[in-house]
Amino acid sequence: MIIDFHTHNFPDKIAASVIAKLESTGNMKASTDGTLDGLKLSMKQSGIDYSVVLPVMTSTKQFESVNRYASETNGKDGIISFGGIHPDNDNIEEKLDHIKNLGLPGIKIHPDYQGVFIDDARYIRIIRYAVKIGLYVTTHAGFDPAFPEIVRCTPERTLNMLNEVYDGKEPEEPRIILAHLGSLDETDKVIDMIAGKTLYLDTAVMLDKIPEEKTLHLIRKHGVDKILFATDCPWADQTKFVKIINNLDLTAQERDMITHMNAITMLKKQNIAF
Ligand SMILES: [Zn+2]
Repeated sequence: MIIDFHTHNFPDKIAASVIAKLESTGNMKASTDGTLDGLKLSMKQSGIDYSVVLPVMTSTKQFESVNRYASETNGKDGIISFGGIHPDNDNIEEKLDHIKNLGLPGIKIHPDYQGVFIDDARYIRIIRYAVKIGLYVTTHAGFDPAFPEIVRCTPERTLNMLNEVYDGKEPEEPRIILAHLGSLDETDKVIDMIAGKTLYLDTAVMLDKIPEEKTLHLIRKHGVDKILFATDCPWADQTKFVKIINNLDLTAQERDMITHMNAITMLKKQNIAF
């Protein structure tokens, strides 16, 4: 079984325009048409059984529509959807309770698209409460091609955030997921500063970006039980990433943990059945 823990799709009505805009601002090429059907087709072609969709809210007003769409698609045809929240939303606790009540397993935040540093008090408040009520929190980490001028989730700021959220202690179980193996552009710092912490790292975009040796070193230093296979589809090609993970010099057990066992352990806690 393969679970891709970091994918995106958009409602049919806006998919084409969103993809066109993101392709031009990020200078990227999408591997699907951005629709739900496009994602499902890609899953079928690549042999991916489940995709976790991570919606990014770019304005406070999207709360209702993004989470309604997430709950409509969640749990059907191999799609598992996180919810979305914006750091400038009001009544944060009520909103996170709502996401939890919709049965969504977690939330996605994106410091660059949301214009707020990861260690800002607004994010701390959200992450603290989300973790408290048992939601997973995925954050974009490191450079983002659409915002080259500033990085709002650096390894240093990630450590600040963890300190604030957990009052300087190590949590009992991991609830925070750092995308892109902890930083899209600073893997060496992640290896030095973050590896081994009680949090998950997803592999989105990274498997063909850094040398295999470095990937393996980070995976093993951090702990194979806290690594999640992920692509960032449509911003990486699922078929290509499945090939890479299958050829990575891992033991069969390590590969199984990364491709699905860790994810199943997490999602079963959120009452998602497999
Ligand atoms: Zn992404």
